[in-house]
Amino acid sequence: METRRALVTGAASGIGAACAQRLAADGVHVIAVDFDQAGLEALDGVETILADLSDLDRLSDLPTDIDILVNNAGVQQVAPVEQFPPERFSYIIRLMLEAPFRLIRQTLPHMYGAGWGRVVNISSVHGLRASPFKAAYVSAKHGLEGLSKVVALEGAAHGVTSNCVNPAYVRTPLVTAQLADQAATHGLSEAEVLDKVLLEPVAVKRLIEPAEVAELVAMLCGPASASITGSSFVLDGGWTAH
Ligand code: NAD
Repeated sequence: METRRALVTGAASGIGAACAQRLAADGVHVIAVDFDQAGLEALDGVETILADLSDLDRLSDLPTDIDILVNNAGVQQVAPVEQFPPERFSYIIRLMLEAPFRLIRQTLPHMYGAGWGRVVNISSVHGLRASPFKAAYVSAKHGLEGLSKVVALEGAAHGVTSNCVNPAYVRTPLVTAQLADQAATHGLSEAEVLDKVLLEPVAVKRLIEPAEVAELVAMLCGPASASITGSSFVLDGGWTAH
């Protein structure tokens, strides 16, 4: 893996940071992209680029000679459809579906030229299942699933694979913020929200660690992964087994 260059989006925190550090541990040259400067500065042993990924016209400034692309940056917004702010819906689709499309589109020529490439899209259980009040997030992740499969079909002849990773709740700021919000909404403690709300449908009764997601991503980028493409890898503690 020593000669590979990876670009990881949303790499200043949570799953993206874990992926960046895990790929770097394999000897990959990692370029971590995020708009959180302090988070980027806390990373060890990776190149960093400060960028707002929702600014689609600026994405062409990012490096395109990339062998491994991890589309990870994402946000959540919870509201009933009839109250969902339309500009927030557009923002989430832009950040979590259009930016991945642009980055894939501009890095594929290098991967095709090299005859090798890996696209890993951090989707979610919400790429495969819906929950109420998450219209934009569920729409973006379902769209990402479709995009990933199209890239798998087109890339196969060029040695490029494309897959999704689909976690349930992972211990990151994106989830701990939801814990605090829901505790206030339901009048429960954060521990009760975790047990009674978030982990209620999950068989393994704990949050997933970011490093567990990163391990799966590293496997999908590793030497044994050439035939694995167009797939979605559920890492959900048994949630979707119901
Ligand atoms: P996180 O909040 O810890 O990290 C997200 C990162 O994305 C942050 O560093 C943030 O600064 C960055 N980001 C957000 N908007 C950006 C923008 N416009 N430009 C540049 N950077 C931006 O969240 P996380 O939980 O690690 O989530 C990462 C991905 O994993 C997301 O796509 C999320 O949907 C997905 N996911 C998370 C969970 C979970 O339970 N945490 C579960 C399933 C899927």
